[in-house]
Parts: sequence; C-alpha cells; structure tokens
Amino acid sequence: GHDGQAGAVAQLRGIRNPVLAARAVMESSNHVMLAGDGASAFARSVGLETAPPEYFHTDARWQQLLAVRDTDASVLDHDGAHKLAFADKKFGTVGAVALDRDGRLAAATSTGGLTNKRWGRVGDSPVVGAGTWADAHCAVSGTGWGEYYIRAVAAHDICARVKYAGES
Ligand code: ASP
Repeated sequence: GHDGQAGAVAQLRGIRNPVLAARAVMESSNHVMLAGDGASAFARSVGLETAPPEYFHTDARWQQLLAVRDTDASVLDHDGAHKLAFADKKFGTVGAVALDRDGRLAAATSTGGLTNKRWGRVGDSPVVGAGTWADAHCAVSGTGWGEYYIRAVAAHDICARVKYAGES
C-alpha cells in the first residue's frame, strides 16, 4: 500500500493462516519473502497457530487431484483441453483488497496453488507484483494460471496503468 511494505511466504507447511505468516515477514523480519522450511519455522517462531495436515485436506480438492493424475495431465501443460478444465475448477484461492477509512490500500492472496503442480513450483500469489500488489492508488489480488501472471507481472502492470496512464 502507501508505505510500500510487502511480505510473502511460499511452500509453507502446517501454518493455519498463511496470510498472517506473510504479514509477519513484512512486520517482523528484514525480508520480503521466505520459502519452505525456513518460512514455516519463522511463522512458528513468531507464535502463529499451527494445524495438522488433515486441516488442509478437503475431499473435493483431493478428488480433483486424483482425476488429473488419472488422466496423466498436468496443469502446466500448454494444452487447451486441460486449460479449460482448470478454468472450471479454480476454487482454491482467496484474495482480498482493502481500503481503510484513511484511504490506505492493502492486498493479500492465499492459495494452495494449481492442482497437480510440480513439487517446488511457486505460483504468482506470493510473488509481489505478479498475483498481488497494492500501492497508494490501486490494489490487486489475482486468481488464475500463475505462470501467466508472473510473466506479465500482471498485478503491478495493472496498477502501473492506473498510476502512469490514468486508467480507472
Ligand atoms: N494463481 C494460483 C497459482 O497459480 C492458482 C489460483 O489462483 O487458483 O498458484
């Protein structure tokens, strides 16, 4: 938002509210992004609530994964048919933008990522400027196929159009 602060986590495990972990990176570390075991350890070290793997399990998402696995398709294949299937099933991402009474903007995005993604893949949601961005005049939280958002730095690009081209 207006103060240019940002925090992100990727490949987090066992932390109940990942957006709080991202916020903790922003407010309680000298860094912008932490990933993997280090991100999870940091979140625990600042006292964030943990949750067992079952907490993150939903049958619907599990069935989606099994269905894609059975067809041996990957969401990262550039194949039109599967892209369509993804478009019909993008239920996992939560995004928010907020405007407070003093006119300050913020944005946050949390996701489990794409179904059947490769191990180690990081999507757009934690990449500041790709899936999430807020500045003094514009805030964006995106959902969709993250590789496209990262290549286009989409969230920042939208806000740049507001800032520099005066678009609404
Ligand atoms: N953007 C997310 C990702 O690519 C997925 C989603 O929005 O559903 O990881």
